[in-house]
Amino acid sequence: MIDHSVFNNKKVVFHTLGCKLNFAETSAIGRQLADDGFVKARPGEQADVCIVNTCSVTDVADAKGRQAIKRLIRLYPNAIMVVTGCYAQLKPDEIASIEGVDLVLGSNEKFNMLDYLRSFDKTKKEFVHRSDILKIKEFKPSCSRGDRTRFFLKVQDGCNYYCTYCTIPMARGHSRSGAVAETVQAARQAVAEGAKEIVLTGVNIGDFGRGNGESFFDLLRALDKIPEEVRFRISSIEPNLLTDEIIRYVASSRRFMPHFHIPLQSGTNEALQLMKRRYNRELFAEKIQTIKTVLPDAFIGVDVIVGIRGETDELFRQSYQFIEGLDISQLHVFTYSERSGTKMLEIDHAVPVAERKRRSEMLHQLSAKKTQAFYNSQTGKTVQVLWESRSRDEKMTGFSHNYVRVERSYDKNRINQVETVNLGGWNEEKSALISLFPPVERSLPTNVVNLR
Ligand code: SF4
Repeated sequence: MIDHSVFNNKKVVFHTLGCKLNFAETSAIGRQLADDGFVKARPGEQADVCIVNTCSVTDVADAKGRQAIKRLIRLYPNAIMVVTGCYAQLKPDEIASIEGVDLVLGSNEKFNMLDYLRSFDKTKKEFVHRSDILKIKEFKPSCSRGDRTRFFLKVQDGCNYYCTYCTIPMARGHSRSGAVAETVQAARQAVAEGAKEIVLTGVNIGDFGRGNGESFFDLLRALDKIPEEVRFRISSIEPNLLTDEIIRYVASSRRFMPHFHIPLQSGTNEALQLMKRRYNRELFAEKIQTIKTVLPDAFIGVDVIVGIRGETDELFRQSYQFIEGLDISQLHVFTYSERSGTKMLEIDHAVPVAERKRRSEMLHQLSAKKTQAFYNSQTGKTVQVLWESRSRDEKMTGFSHNYVRVERSYDKNRINQVETVNLGGWNEEKSALISLFPPVERSLPTNVVNLR
């Protein structure tokens, strides 16, 4: 039995997998533990407690979770090994069977971490604590801070959509969110702690305010009014919840960046129906059109899943053609994997794994073309860049307001600062555009005129 007083200076290690939401929640747990005397173990230092916050969006995510857990058990043999997150919620026994795991906590139990550590007893057989996730109504706010330039503010959790390929509703429960006022307060707190950019994150953020008479649009307008200088980004939002009102508001807003991340998943209505998505491809194309009309330089990232059950060669061909015709900047390509407990398993037609891989490669190549075209369209433009840390060789990078990665010569005074620059051509690695003003300390590629 560990009593409270011995937490002082106890060393803790965190390992987070998966989405922005998980990072925000790990940060919140870290804060709770720090308030109770825990300190983060430095690299190479042994830890008393090791906490792994897992993801379970695909089979690959589960496998990565198992690998990370086993590696950390080897690295910290004396630590209390705690595993939580979506994988722990969906398959607790699979994790409990890993030799060296001491505590398995369901998705909602992670917020009671201190209680579980206080009552931890290595001799106790029962160490799996599930969450009755579909009964959870309470929203637990959290925000990642300090370990990144960009702060992730959790504004919503859970989902009521039950798309046929997805396990997230079973891992995180029903859709829930805080109130606009407390969310605005959390954002202002993050700014007070140094945030220059805040990413609004959740599972289905467009569903914010469900059940308490507020809406995501209300939240945007309230955040846009806070007096502090800060940039906001909207993370992934369902196309049917991305209203034209929201798009036009972002276009007129000073704080919300022209950057959208919208899950399409497939470019045919047949496949969208198999997935039980809540829009058709015509609606999706209209959203892209509306964005590009009011924000021609907006960055648009789009999620696509390849190889779902029922995706015949012909459906994939049509989907590819549709996506090819969209004026977007990047694709996030996911390869479908069978998930136990999902309705899609009732569809007989399974796409062979090798074919899923081939389709994924085709969409990755298409994505690279789209990103190249978008970046080329930005050369010569004036943008506001939030500089991050050092990249390499006396250079540093950051992202522009419209999510272009930009490079300049390193200057430590500019970390976490916003600067207006002109965009030049690609850097040598073709990983960023170079900033021209202020000029970079080296000869410019031939295709860019020096504006000095
Ligand atoms: S909207 Fe669909 S894919 Fe997204 S979390 Fe909800 S059920 Fe999963």
